[in-house]
Amino acid sequence: MSTVAVTPQTGAGAEELGAGIGFEDVSKVFVSAESDAFTAIESIDLTIEPGTFVTIVGPSGCGKSTLLNMAAGLLKPSSGTVRYRGSPVTGVNTDVGYMTQKDNLLPWRRVEDNVRLPLEMPGHHRSRAEKTAMVEAQLARVGLEKFGRRYPAELSGGMRKRVALARSLVYDPATLLMDEPFGALDAQLRLSLQGQLLELLRRDRKTVLFVTHDIEEAVMLADRVVVFGANPGRIVHVEDVHLDRSGDLVAARRSPEVAEICGRLWSMLETHEETPDGDR
Ligand code: ADP
Ligand code: MG
Repeated sequence: MSTVAVTPQTGAGAEELGAGIGFEDVSKVFVSAESDAFTAIESIDLTIEPGTFVTIVGPSGCGKSTLLNMAAGLLKPSSGTVRYRGSPVTGVNTDVGYMTQKDNLLPWRRVEDNVRLPLEMPGHHRSRAEKTAMVEAQLARVGLEKFGRRYPAELSGGMRKRVALARSLVYDPATLLMDEPFGALDAQLRLSLQGQLLELLRRDRKTVLFVTHDIEEAVMLADRVVVFGANPGRIVHVEDVHLDRSGDLVAARRSPEVAEICGRLWSMLETHEETPDGDR
């Protein structure tokens, strides 16, 4: 079992934010009336340092969403400790923005009112005008300033994803949890949204824990890629990535470095694909 830590990138506010996430020997067992206890993830030791971008990549069912739900405080670990800013997570973690696997936009609310939703939760004591300004600013950041009055059904898939991103950023959380946010989109749109996300983070550094099943996406975005195996979900490999992302993402994607890392991660996933329970 190894402890995984990431060195923070230099950037405004990273150290002072202190918004790191820690998983200490975390396991999650699901128990239901119909079936035997099922170990979804086992003995996860992982530290996401403040201001770093960590991606988790692994096959379907290896516990990626379960891990994010625990960081968000929506699920409790069966054993071990999940920490945020150094303290155990004991309830819903309101300091994080969570972009879930489904965009969960409310169809009866306009785009602007969907983005406003987190500001309506208890604890956001701001005036109506302030909230409106925050919503407008966020929509502008994702390039949707002209679409606030539309309903979700009137948007394309990529626009819906951008609304969901704006909603998870609207109260300026120190940390972003993202669960396969661009999964269902075509390759071109995905690339464009990846670029937009990196651009947003360049201006305003946050701690990011990003889940994907796409190895190339994991490598393109992260300071560190954590590869999960399934049955039970566990860490099988950790890869530090030092890509120059200041220029064109398309060019960076074609670099031999990316090909080499992706090849290595592919073989890691293949090696651990069919490992039966307990055979490690
Ligand atoms: P991933 O996001 O990597 O696809 P999940 O975290 O959604 O995986 O699920 C991991 C495993 O735990 C899966 O086998 C899933 O069926 C199981 N699981 C997830 N949530 C529950 C639950 N509430 N009850 C029982 N089993 C669950
Ligand atoms: Mg999932």
